[in-house]
Amino acid sequence: MLEKTTLKIKEIMENIRVRFAPSPTGALHIGGVRTALYNYLFARQNGGKMILRIEDTDQTRFVPGAESYIIESLKWCGINFDEGVEQGGEYGPYKQSERKEIYQKYADKLIESGNAYYAFDTPEALEALRSENAHFSYTAAVRQNLDNSLNLSKEEVQKKMDANTPFVIRFKMPEDRIVEMNDLVRGDVKIKATELDDKVLFKSDGMPTYHLANIVDDHLMEISHVIRGEEWLPSLPLHELLYEAFGWEAPRFAHLPLLLKPNGNGKLSKRDGDKLGFPVFPMRWTDPKTGAVSHGFCEDGYLPEAFINMLALLGWNPGTEQEIFTMEELIKSFSIERISKSGARFDPEKAKWFNQQFLRQESDIKLAKEFLPVLEKKGINTNIEFVEKAVALVKERLTFSADLWSQTSFFFVRPENYEPKVVKKRWKETIPPIMSDLAKALENVEIWQADNIKASIVSFIEARELGMGQVMNALRLTLVGGGSGPDLMTLAEVLGKEEVIARIEQGVSTIKR
Ligand code: GLU
Repeated sequence: MLEKTTLKIKEIMENIRVRFAPSPTGALHIGGVRTALYNYLFARQNGGKMILRIEDTDQTRFVPGAESYIIESLKWCGINFDEGVEQGGEYGPYKQSERKEIYQKYADKLIESGNAYYAFDTPEALEALRSENAHFSYTAAVRQNLDNSLNLSKEEVQKKMDANTPFVIRFKMPEDRIVEMNDLVRGDVKIKATELDDKVLFKSDGMPTYHLANIVDDHLMEISHVIRGEEWLPSLPLHELLYEAFGWEAPRFAHLPLLLKPNGNGKLSKRDGDKLGFPVFPMRWTDPKTGAVSHGFCEDGYLPEAFINMLALLGWNPGTEQEIFTMEELIKSFSIERISKSGARFDPEKAKWFNQQFLRQESDIKLAKEFLPVLEKKGINTNIEFVEKAVALVKERLTFSADLWSQTSFFFVRPENYEPKVVKKRWKETIPPIMSDLAKALENVEIWQADNIKASIVSFIEARELGMGQVMNALRLTLVGGGSGPDLMTLAEVLGKEEVIARIEQGVSTIKR
């Protein structure tokens, strides 16, 4: 099975052209970003072309701002296009609403070849049929009883046309036919055409439906591989039959598995994100109708590299233990053969883990430069060298760069409060005089470096036969106000001698048990 698929992909490795074809009906869900990503990786790996086509033929679902949102989000992700609404290209226009005449022409061709017909049934008539029978569908079995050109004479059809009677164009599903298809992810699929209905290809508003426009454009734009979400798999038989009806060679298809809720039960939706507090959109989105704002990975502090890495592994695996990939590495390793058939569970905790890993790889100076304005806003007067040292000490503890303040605040301001729990545990009655003496002992450290500070504390402890933990924990409490934080000796070094002594003295005089 795998070999067969590989062969089929390889056969047509030349002139790879793939497209991401979103409809501007709202924000781009992360499932859509993953579709764009897989197309992008496949194109880049094979020296092919990546195309952005906007499928906006359904005017009832058009949402202002959605197109630019999609474009901005993909830019943030680092997914670039060679041709599309912004770049232009030889196969344009790349927006379906600007290609109306083209579809009209091809719809007419299908009528001429007998693969499509005019249907005059009014929406009310169809509604009545549906209310009589919930399973009603416009199939070969019932079409002869309905109001369409298959049952009318040429003259009758012409008369309706002359009277401007609204009509749609429907595809004429062949009877007694098994449609055989191949999906690069799922293998061979077969379906009886009698199970399919005569889908509308062209609407009464003069616009094509998704099916017609999509096939015509994929053909005219010479798309070699259609990589898209699993929700389009049921449309595949119709698409295959449309290619056949036009006498065109169909592209290869790969349908990607669904993204599932964190608990694995069902498709991941915006509601899950709202309920459990994680984003499902790449960037912040404001619904133009309701004004409702949904948060995005970008504003929540995710690095685009981490977001992309996480998405790449939702539905594809490299076949090795490797989890961290740069975009370049993804381009090298990606393969359609390793896309899974079953749904991929989205794990918000894992998403954070990826961010943590990528944040660790950022340089201290870069993070420090980003952090400096945040500190300035808080009225903290400091310098970049000091910030860099603070960042270096806490970097491993960060999930988002926004955690920098909570992780480093004690570098910049003396503790004002001391965590009561830690005080209770670590600040016994015997401690204050010991800490006073420790402050004096530290006065004598000449070269203020972590090793020297440590040596001085250790000899202080040994001379008095004290417990190591007893002194170190109390010292931490005076320096950071709590019981956790980075390496204590390095922290003391970075804070400086004067500050450390001042904090110990402040602790001695203010910590109340
Ligand atoms: N316009 C469709 C969508 O919004 C594209 C489906 C396809 O890639 O064929 O997902």
